[in-house]
Amino acid sequence: MQTGTDIAFAADLLRNGKLVVFPTETVYGLGANAFDPYAVAKVFSVKKRPTFDPLIVHISAFGQVEQLFQSPVDEQVYTLAKAFWPGPLTIVHHKKPEVPDLVTSGLPTVAVRMPAHPVAAELIRMAGVPVAAPSANLFGCLSPTSANHVKKQLNEPDYLLDGGQTIYGIESTVVSVESGGIRILRHGAISEESLAAHVTILTEEKAVKPGQLPSPGMLKSHYSPRKPLYIIKDSNFGKINEESGVIIKSAQSGGNFNGIKTISLSENGNLSEIAVNLFAALHQMEDDPEIKQIFIEPVAESGIGKAIMDRLRKASFNYL
Ligand code: AMP
Ligand code: MG
Repeated sequence: MQTGTDIAFAADLLRNGKLVVFPTETVYGLGANAFDPYAVAKVFSVKKRPTFDPLIVHISAFGQVEQLFQSPVDEQVYTLAKAFWPGPLTIVHHKKPEVPDLVTSGLPTVAVRMPAHPVAAELIRMAGVPVAAPSANLFGCLSPTSANHVKKQLNEPDYLLDGGQTIYGIESTVVSVESGGIRILRHGAISEESLAAHVTILTEEKAVKPGQLPSPGMLKSHYSPRKPLYIIKDSNFGKINEESGVIIKSAQSGGNFNGIKTISLSENGNLSEIAVNLFAALHQMEDDPEIKQIFIEPVAESGIGKAIMDRLRKASFNYL
């Protein structure tokens, strides 16, 4: 896969039905022209992503929502966009018929986000089309927060725009806009507390048909490294041995892991810093042949801590 920093070249590729990996402030995305179903189909096949899991469409100017959301657009969309765009918030709202069904997995709604990363913003602006992009990893595997993480998993995209390490290190918060409030479908880089300062958050469970998920990406197992991952608790602490790698939340949180490979995610437990370094630490442990299983310390579930614990529970789901 060709790698470089030529945004104009990458934009040209997108317009011509090709796939471009690009950095956003959350994780790297695998992009295609959202209005080209053939290009979008390639995204699913390259990622080995099931087609029931819809893609987020990325825009570079607010005016582009008119191509995607059916009017009348709910007032809350404007409120959220004003407060959080560009940024790591994805808004789900009823779609225009022109948005390909493949992008939305046949749902009547489409997920839209305006990324804040300068490379992503310029790429989308130059391409002149909304860009459908899931994270640039294989389905179910660790999300990529650097160009090297992408190269570990994908080879088929036409171009990889290298923009260094991403800023938040955790995916966008996904919300659906409903009458009288919004519902959080996926916790992410924007915390529930900051959303609540602008809109009403609906918390009661939405009635869904048996076997159906309110948001298709809400699978119990996801974001997983290719070796067992355990969240540290009293009952498994004793199982940590020389073949384990340990990820702790801060240099001070300690425990005595003498002789055991340990990565600390932050200097003093700052949750944003932990989020930024989380996936890179998991990638490093995944790549280390001497490590057979990974143990990770849980964090408090406030602010972005909720999104971090959501990722850890999904990543460790098969090893509870
Ligand atoms: P990814 O781009 O891989 O980070 O995943 C995007 C996630 O956004 C999906 O897995 C869904 O959970 C969610 N999503 C995208 N479109 C919709 C939609 N129309 N309705 C509900 N959730 C959506
Ligand atoms: Mg993903």
